Amino acid sequence: NQFAALGLADPLLRAVADTGYTSPTPIQQKAIPLVLQGGDLLAAAQTGTGKTAGFTLPLLQRLADRSCKRAGHPRALVLTPTRELAAQVEEAVRIYGKYLPLRSMVMFGGVGFNPQAAQLRKPVDILVATPGRLLDHVAQKTLNLSDVEILVLDEADRMLDMGFIHDIRKVLALLPAKRQNLLFSATFSDDIKALADRLLDNPGLVEV
Ligand code: AMP
Repeated sequence: NQFAALGLADPLLRAVADTGYTSPTPIQQKAIPLVLQGGDLLAAAQTGTGKTAGFTLPLLQRLADRSCKRAGHPRALVLTPTRELAAQVEEAVRIYGKYLPLRSMVMFGGVGFNPQAAQLRKPVDILVATPGRLLDHVAQKTLNLSDVEILVLDEADRMLDMGFIHDIRKVLALLPAKRQNLLFSATFSDDIKALADRLLDNPGLVEV
């Protein structure tokens, strides 16, 4: 199995087999081993390349040694520009993580705050969120980001285009210094390069 050759463990290989994928896409071939090693990653990838599985599969494996015990303290945070993308990514986390004892949650604005707060009263390993509502939960103390081990910025160029840079900076200030950072972007403007410089420590580079 070509996914096994990338270093993925059995519960993830079984979930991949269930989806029917037979071979990893180019971004998955490059990103999965890098992320499994624990390094930072800078990836140039469009939608449709398989980028979601490219970060979700190794992220799940890195978290799989234990599960979250503290309510409202996620261990991985995926930031996305839109609610649609947040929902898609969290769906992927559920599909690929179905044989692991990890819990995920999606959070975005425009829907009720209290049901999200109620979900955060249980332990959640992986939180997929849009930046504004995430910061609302931090302000209300329903969410604490001090246990985040892995940060993913998905479609970072779109997040900047939508004016989320200030929110992203606020989120970064709430995270522990020691963590793994993955940045995905379809384009590389000066603003994205500046964000990557600030965020990433000696990142592996992947272009497809
Ligand atoms: P993404 O670029 O992450 O939005 O993924 C695009 C589509 O490709 C999604 O519908 C995935 O289910 C599908 N996909 C991801 N990885 C693979 C793979 N290795 N083989 C076939 N399809 C895949």
